[in-house]
Amino acid sequence: MKALILDKPDGGDVSSEIRETAEDSLPDGDVTVAVEYSTVNYKDALVLAGQGGLVKTYPHVPGIDFAGTVETSSDERYAPGDRVILTGWRVGEIHWGGYAEKARVKADWLVPAPDGLDARAAMALGTAGFTAMLAIMALEEHGLTPDRGEVLVTGASGGVGSVATAILSRLGYHVAAVTGRPEQEEYLRSLGARSIVPRSELSEGGKPLESERWAGCVDAVGGTMLARVLSQMKHGGSVAAVGLAGGSKLETTVVPFLLRGVNLLGIDSVTAPYAKRVTAWDRLARDMPSELLEQTIRMATLEEVPQIGRDMLQNKTHGRVVVDLS
Ligand code: NDP
Repeated sequence: MKALILDKPDGGDVSSEIRETAEDSLPDGDVTVAVEYSTVNYKDALVLAGQGGLVKTYPHVPGIDFAGTVETSSDERYAPGDRVILTGWRVGEIHWGGYAEKARVKADWLVPAPDGLDARAAMALGTAGFTAMLAIMALEEHGLTPDRGEVLVTGASGGVGSVATAILSRLGYHVAAVTGRPEQEEYLRSLGARSIVPRSELSEGGKPLESERWAGCVDAVGGTMLARVLSQMKHGGSVAAVGLAGGSKLETTVVPFLLRGVNLLGIDSVTAPYAKRVTAWDRLARDMPSELLEQTIRMATLEEVPQIGRDMLQNKTHGRVVVDLS
């Protein structure tokens, strides 16, 4: 099987190579999957660059998500031929991942692909789309409805942001998309964003409370932007904290929580329980318009992945990158 393998000599830098590897080098697991598609996420970019301390042992096969067909299974829940999706569980970090023609994982980590979502579409969504849906579900659980007002999406032209923008727009929300790249405005409007907020408007700290602007927010950026957004939330509004593309440090005050009842909701896609995963994938199959999904993707070969990872860390990619292993 063909695989992208990372290596790191003692004290040296991480290097990558595409190699033919024996199937018996796959890690232990209940289910062996013929991988059809994987993707490049921000976390993959960190792994490819050897950043973030995410990988503990080398050689390593990255790829935090994949979709494909079961080849063999020792678990009664899966049989050869079943279409499956994997995201999370630190696959691609501490366990070999999806940048290979085959993967072997625990049955508990898989979900069956929902009807109406083929492997390519499943990975066009991938970890980013799944996480965007978890964020939207959390906002809805806390009372967000389209009539409450504008919903902000930060890091909007990235993977999570693109899918969140498209789904929220399709659900009838007025989406305000934050981007640091004016050249992405047309793309974001094509996904349904009704207004564009320049990143610079939110990239510096403000007062503990500002005018009420947003009914909800899907935040892929964190840091100063998240603090600023919290101070602009409407009474009872919620922010789903998804990412840290702009920084992990959060310096804010409790004032928006105390005076406006603002909710800050943490989103963890990695260990989301099975029932929630199935619900989220069913909703993705239903709520993500396929013509919009097509606009978010760029197809890539395994050979192109290392360069795409470098580009992603420099904020030079947009939307979703789907890796074809079929
Ligand atoms: P992408 O790189 O595709 O998107 C991130 C976007 O954030 C960029 O496109 C850019 O959007 C914006 N951005 C980048 N750098 C900065 C900066 N310095 N300041 C402000 N905005 C910036 O990444 P993903 O969409 O894959 O992931 C987004 C975040 O979500 C990451 O931090 C990732 O680790 C996290 N994540 C968390 C998950 C969870 O389970 N909680 C699961 C999946 C992802 P623009 O150019 O439009 O401004």
